[in-house]
Amino acid sequence: MDLNLKINEKNHVEIGGTDTIELTEKYGTPLYVVDEERIRNNYKRVFNAFTKHYPDFKIFYACKANTNLAIMRILEELGSCIDAVSPGEVYISLKTGFSPDRILFTGNNVTNEELKYIDETGVRINIDSVSQLKKLAKMVVPEGYKVSFRINPMVGAGHHKHVITGGKMSKFGIKENEAVEVYKTAKNLGFDPVGIHTHIGSGILDPEPFKLATNTLMDIAGIVASEADIDFEFIDFGGGLGIPYEPEENILAIDEFGEEITRIFKSKLNEYGMGKPSMYIEPGRYIVGDVSYLLTTVNTIKNSYRKFIGVDCGFNTLLRPAMYESYHHIIVANKAKDKATEKVDIAGNVCESGDLFGRDRLLPKVEEGDTLAIMNTGAYAFSMASQYNSRPRPREVLIKNGNSEIIREKETYEDLFRNQIIPKRLEQ
Ligand SMILES: *Cc1c(COP(=O)(O)O)cnc(C)c1O
Repeated sequence: MDLNLKINEKNHVEIGGTDTIELTEKYGTPLYVVDEERIRNNYKRVFNAFTKHYPDFKIFYACKANTNLAIMRILEELGSCIDAVSPGEVYISLKTGFSPDRILFTGNNVTNEELKYIDETGVRINIDSVSQLKKLAKMVVPEGYKVSFRINPMVGAGHHKHVITGGKMSKFGIKENEAVEVYKTAKNLGFDPVGIHTHIGSGILDPEPFKLATNTLMDIAGIVASEADIDFEFIDFGGGLGIPYEPEENILAIDEFGEEITRIFKSKLNEYGMGKPSMYIEPGRYIVGDVSYLLTTVNTIKNSYRKFIGVDCGFNTLLRPAMYESYHHIIVANKAKDKATEKVDIAGNVCESGDLFGRDRLLPKVEEGDTLAIMNTGAYAFSMASQYNSRPRPREVLIKNGNSEIIREKETYEDLFRNQIIPKRLEQ
């Protein structure tokens, strides 16, 4: 286990050298707290693990994990590129300083308007379907237009069935046995297909499925290269690198992982005589998953048929437990080292019975007014937050060298209803 728990002499949990209880006193709860140093370290750890073995390597941060502008700026400074899955993500990447050549758009079920916008930005388009290829062909002058394709290599993996994005049940990508055909079609239309891409799923801690997908994609790339006569500029293996959420889970040994994946990559390049294309991966969760805590205050203790610890946020603030039955480790932040004595359920404040952050959690004796730290809330946490139950989304602060700065203000009630319109005839 590497949940990176830091506890100070006051028995309080710290993040980035800052006392979480002091943060709640200053900013209130619920509060997302992000540790900048950890983002930088995570990025460098992956980067080094791969570049050591293959220097022409790039990280495309999958920004759907967290599009906070400050976090985007940190990644821009680090030299990251961006995996964008929607026009909005392309927009915010450009706004936060990523040049178009550092952004790859991988959409699915993309409309003509969206495609037009992406084309105008000059961002590279990674095509998900033949339909999308044909739409693009009608919209642009294909001659010399560089594209890539997302391939479904029949390998899928992930922490929950909703996040498996390869294999026979997946809606993503082009079937592997149609890859050659699609590249030939693209060339016949005049396009310049320069890349091949896959993304098999998310939350992968076991390197085996990823290795299998790497092997498979390289075989597909090799066949495409020779049969459709393509000279690949890049091969993109997608994201999916997992982090441990539960104390029993092991970390992904990233140095070995980088070594093994680049070894497969290089040997397949050799085998098929594919030259030296750039190697890309698209981690989201691995870069930002463990950089944040969600701090929430206990406001109600209820001894019902079970013992419920009621807190001041719900699945509108953190959806993963309700959506994927995900585990997030929870600590009583102001009683960090106290002996765990009771099993409790942690309940949110949304009016739905599925709104629970954890069942049967062994915690020290919790009282109203205590602060809970919900761990590993950097990825797919704020970016999936909603205003359901008409609750404003919370504040977010960034910690650097023990100092905290607000990187997102909490919403007001007015914010919730800003874009709604009452027709004249219904006005009061
Ligand atoms: C979501 C996504 C990723 C990132 O997945 P992680 O599990 O966060 O690493 C990468 N590539 C594409 C195309 C995605 O949709």
